[in-house]
Amino acid sequence: MNNVQLDLIIIGGGVAGLWTLNRAVKAGLNAILLEKDCLGGGQTVRSQGIIHGGTKYALNGVLTQASNTIKEMPQRWRDCLAGHGELDLTQVRLLSDAHYMWSKGSLGSRMTTFFATKAFRGRVEEVSAADRPAVFRNPGFKGSLYRLNELVLDVPSLIDALREPVEERIFQADICQAELVFSGDQLTDIRFPDGLCLQPRQVVLTAGEGFAELAPQLGLNQPEMQRRPLHMVMVKHRLNLPTFAHCIGTGSKPVATITTHPCEDGAQVWYLGGDIAETGVERGHDEQIAFARKAMADLLPWVDLSDAQWNCLRVDRAEPKQSSLVRPDSGFAQAAGNCIVAWPTKLALSPDLADQVLALCPEPGYPQADLSALSLLPKPATTRPVWESYFDQT
Ligand SMILES: Cc1cc2nc3c(=O)[nH]c(=O)nc-3n(C[C@H](O)[C@H](O)[C@H](O)COP(=O)(O)OP(=O)(O)OC[C@H]3O[C@@H](n4cnc5c(N)ncnc54)[C@H](O)[C@@H]3O)c2cc1C
Repeated sequence: MNNVQLDLIIIGGGVAGLWTLNRAVKAGLNAILLEKDCLGGGQTVRSQGIIHGGTKYALNGVLTQASNTIKEMPQRWRDCLAGHGELDLTQVRLLSDAHYMWSKGSLGSRMTTFFATKAFRGRVEEVSAADRPAVFRNPGFKGSLYRLNELVLDVPSLIDALREPVEERIFQADICQAELVFSGDQLTDIRFPDGLCLQPRQVVLTAGEGFAELAPQLGLNQPEMQRRPLHMVMVKHRLNLPTFAHCIGTGSKPVATITTHPCEDGAQVWYLGGDIAETGVERGHDEQIAFARKAMADLLPWVDLSDAQWNCLRVDRAEPKQSSLVRPDSGFAQAAGNCIVAWPTKLALSPDLADQVLALCPEPGYPQADLSALSLLPKPATTRPVWESYFDQT
């Protein structure tokens, strides 16, 4: 056996695992990450890339714990993007410096009352007609528009920026295929068939929904996981109308959340989430597209999408189990033996999650290992933007 002793092994290379690996290495831990498929290829690449400040969660007028934790996130990410934060994200492509919230005409007064409350001061500002993004400059737009202190990132460039500084510490492997050896509740050895044996002091599971398969292998009954399904819609067009906004109706959740993403052939994809995606779980593929077409014609009637290509994708969010499938309140990390089970619950909360994980980790113990023994393991590819596999080139 070729034994390699490590302070930390992170299982799962989505945004949570990659962010945590960068922070762990900076903290002096002798850490590696194992990804079974490709980096970012789970929920992360399917996300809308919004760095939320919590405004949409406060739509019911109550500032919950989620709004309090998440409201610090945009500034932490902005610091990283500017090159003076906890990680260097200067190479990440910013799709929009702000996310917006709009309502149709009749609901404008509800938004005005809501955003006038003290909780929103400095976080939300009404946008004058002259400053509106192009999509809202049409005379047909009669609603009110607010600019939120949130930003939208190009997720594939984020994965690259998180991979590069720690590339030599990332490997492709699925520990479900390895022999796992325990001493009491401590996972001591991960033995691969070719003689490589990894000996971690601490293991972090950032495996997203892969936790469901890992838990029985690791003998973990707690915590439990829940999935919250979505049926997202993608609209590919060449209108060049970058749109980053939640549309607010009478309920406590956005009717639709639109983000805009570049395609390799120069077109753009409008990616539609919010209530369209949540209620869309009950609709089949064609029905969901018909529903989304009608919703867009109702919300933005002046935008001509007749030449657009439409498609949709189903994806589950993986989170700690809550009573009645409600949205978990913040990032989640819980120790079980020498494993830490972690779900950020939002890409935006990855910095908060890494704080929680590192607080549960022991101080650096092992000297920086010679990682050459791990060269037996292949390197995982980085995922491609998700829409590239759903549409023909135009
Ligand atoms: C449609 C959608 C839109 C979203 N939009 C936003 C948004 O705009 N803003 C926001 O903040 N959040 C958003 N989210 C939430 C956000 O995407 C997730 O919270 C976040 O990406 C989770 O990251 P993760 O690293 O925990 O999981 P994942 O990205 O799912 O990564 C888990 C990784 O673990 C790997 N893995 C699994 N099992 C194993 C194993 N046995 N061994 C090794 N590797 C394994 C998988 O291959 C995968 O790469 C959205 C989510 C969805 C689904």
